[in-house]
Amino acid sequence: MKYHSTRGEAPVLEFEDVLLAGLARDGGLYMPEAWPEISANDMSALAGVPYADLAVRVMSPFVGKALSDTELGDIAGRAYAAFSHPAVAPISQIGSNEFLLELYHGPTLAFKDLAMQMLGGFFDHVLKKRGRQVTIVGATSGDTGGAAIEALRGRSSVSVFILHPHGRVSDVQRRMMTTVPDKNVHNIALDGNFDDCQAIVKALFNDHAFRDRTSLGGVNSINWSRVMAQIVYYFAAGLVLGAPHRAASYAVPTGNFGDILAGYAAKQMGLPVDRLIIATNVNDILARTLATGEYKVEGVTPTTSPSMDIQVSSNFERLIFEACGREAGEVRGLMSSLGQSGAFTLKEPVLANIRKDFDAARADEAEVARTMRETYEASGHLIDPHTAVGLAAGRKVANGASPLVTLSTAHVAKFPDAVKEATGVTPALPSHLEGLMHRDERMSILPNDLGAVRSYIEEHL
Ligand SMILES: *Cc1c(COP(=O)(O)O)cnc(C)c1O
Repeated sequence: MKYHSTRGEAPVLEFEDVLLAGLARDGGLYMPEAWPEISANDMSALAGVPYADLAVRVMSPFVGKALSDTELGDIAGRAYAAFSHPAVAPISQIGSNEFLLELYHGPTLAFKDLAMQMLGGFFDHVLKKRGRQVTIVGATSGDTGGAAIEALRGRSSVSVFILHPHGRVSDVQRRMMTTVPDKNVHNIALDGNFDDCQAIVKALFNDHAFRDRTSLGGVNSINWSRVMAQIVYYFAAGLVLGAPHRAASYAVPTGNFGDILAGYAAKQMGLPVDRLIIATNVNDILARTLATGEYKVEGVTPTTSPSMDIQVSSNFERLIFEACGREAGEVRGLMSSLGQSGAFTLKEPVLANIRKDFDAARADEAEVARTMRETYEASGHLIDPHTAVGLAAGRKVANGASPLVTLSTAHVAKFPDAVKEATGVTPALPSHLEGLMHRDERMSILPNDLGAVRSYIEEHL
């Protein structure tokens, strides 16, 4: 499989180089040249297969010759053995036609583990083969950092630097990053918000001299292999609910648009998907864009769902690329307008294409709290604030024609204060994380300044 940049001015690459590159050199994001299809017959045969085997079937065409199915299967087997539920991503029913897709059974209790554990295996494999080292730099709104650190800690070919917005992640999220003792792990608490962290990471990638000197690699969902690994659980859920014969709708708590883009990819590959519902909290740039066609960056408001406190939604660029018929020139124009004026407007046919597959809705803080409480009272299920955004938004637009699957993106124990406030119940950390709140922490607080971050990384390599 070959990969093209959404901005059309970077080299066309194969899977391994896309994995190592992260962001394309023209500032764009890599996309597979074509969507591989899984026929209805092949899909029927996948019902009930173990998750790791399903992962091989879904990912193999994207990986191409870079890994044999046996190698891919080894990586998947190791990645998903660390999960605390045998189904890896089980479905639970919370209402007559409502389901949760539980994506929080991995080591750091959020959906990021499902892709990041694979990414750790991919990096290991490719770097060993090439005898190379990489410097991973990533931005986190809370969950990516912990998942990346957990997947890459102690791996000798990788150094990891994670930027998080100082004071804006939950205690559990921060401690999952800062209490890891491995020498290859470095935490930077940036005096800024998540968009500032992400802007610095993108600027480091666009500094080609620094990028080459440090062999920079990325773990944010700008890295295609993360989106790829997330396609698998849409198939897992769809198969349980009757694919290829019956379609479902998916409500996805959305920030950087990586998770829901994987749902779009699953649909392109043949999974029956009715609606893809973009769920946002009050940081609702995507809901506004779907309503008006104008993508306009505003300030970020901190909420109880901090992993979605984002305005610049990187992977939306991949959807725009698709929706404008893969015209890279059009994407370049929109992105340069975004850089210059903080906004762009989608042409009517592009917006219409997006609306064919997607709806969007937002949930405010009162709705989130009410959804957590009502779900607990009605079904006995405790859900975290991100999942509550998904469910509340999903209910606003669901048409009742198909089952509504809300992606449950984090474990309640990651956001205990908001859960307790809404339901009166204090969720306990799973046993493998006992002691987390008492371990020593390591992090450096840096100003919101590209030069300061660049020097810090070079000094600590
Ligand atoms: C990262 C994250 C999201 C947002 O996912 P995107 O792929 O960035 O849209 C939602 N919920 C939780 C718990 C997350 O960690």
